[in-house]
Amino acid sequence: MIEIVNSDRCIGCDICVKVCPRDVFDSGDDGIAVIARKSDCQTCFLCELYCPVDALYVSPYAELDDKVDTEQLITQNLLGSYTRNMGWHHGKMGGTDKDPTQQLRILNRVRQDNARLIDTPLAE
Ligand code: SF4
Ligand code: SF4
Repeated sequence: MIEIVNSDRCIGCDICVKVCPRDVFDSGDDGIAVIARKSDCQTCFLCELYCPVDALYVSPYAELDDKVDTEQLITQNLLGSYTRNMGWHHGKMGGTDKDPTQQLRILNRVRQDNARLIDTPLAE
């Protein structure tokens, strides 16, 4: 479940507000994202994946209120750790090299390229 928006890191880009499928966040008056409907969180990690500055922490415990400490999470480098474990790079540019979905997309592209090559008639 979503536990933390770190206001020191948040740049108010509203990406988490837009990507959350459960409308958990509101954009605060100061631009900082606010966890407005925490109990609606489905622990999908999308907000953590897309936050460009690793300002969010989603606990893997979906059902319980995980009492986490922001300073401890920062010390242990756990803010944005799901993102890094999935192979997304800092700033989220450059892709998802450890994400199985991305691997399947690449394989599918290779398969389609091969099928096209087989269907192409040889030049006379
Ligand atoms: S983990 Fe998913 S449902 Fe929960 S706040 Fe983030 S994007 Fe929304
Ligand atoms: S995606 Fe990250 S930086 Fe952007 S508003 Fe949400 S918490 Fe703040």
